[in-house]
Amino acid sequence: MKNPCDPQLVYAIDDSLYLNISNRCTLECTFCPKTQGSHQVHDYDLSITKQPSSDEIISQIELLDDKLIDYKEVVFCGFGEPTLRLQQLKAVASYLKSKNIKVRLNTDGLANLVHKRNILLELKPLIDSISISLNSDDERSYIKHCQPQLKHAYKAVLEFIRLAPNYINDVRVTAINGLEQVNIHNCQQIAYSAGANFLARELDVIG
Ligand code: SF4
Repeated sequence: MKNPCDPQLVYAIDDSLYLNISNRCTLECTFCPKTQGSHQVHDYDLSITKQPSSDEIISQIELLDDKLIDYKEVVFCGFGEPTLRLQQLKAVASYLKSKNIKVRLNTDGLANLVHKRNILLELKPLIDSISISLNSDDERSYIKHCQPQLKHAYKAVLEFIRLAPNYINDVRVTAINGLEQVNIHNCQQIAYSAGANFLARELDVIG
């Protein structure tokens, strides 16, 4: 059983298991509970004060013992961008693949911009599906809603979406229904043009 003082690195919602491996983002999305000061998802407090090592993450997964196999998939998600911790992400994904577990990555799609190389090549053997937050059909509203720290972030997420289906079989692009000045139909078209699926999320619905 997890020590109650340890951070919540692993949490379950329905039949998926989620991994909370980072508290850092390159975005500061206005619609995100974290930006509004909350780290709560369902009954879980996802606050983490230091970046966990891959061993610490794997130790919490191992507490599940043979229940791990009952989950439909394990998802890198949480209140932080998993690809900012690429080395730990790859180590944990590799551990999960050795157990024959399906692995999904939820990402802001900015990893190639941050790491200055195409990381999809490295993720290809480790990740079964990827969900990329597009959030806007134009740069101006992307900057307004996502507040990127890096220049050219919107261009980078579009390029990441274009590349992803060449490496990962199951690619899903997401945007949020109800965000001001965002045309959800155009977001869907961007996804379809890249050969990806599309999911419209609802504003203020988490998990
Ligand atoms: S990238 Fe995700 S976790 Fe980070 S601020 Fe945006 S919605 Fe929140």
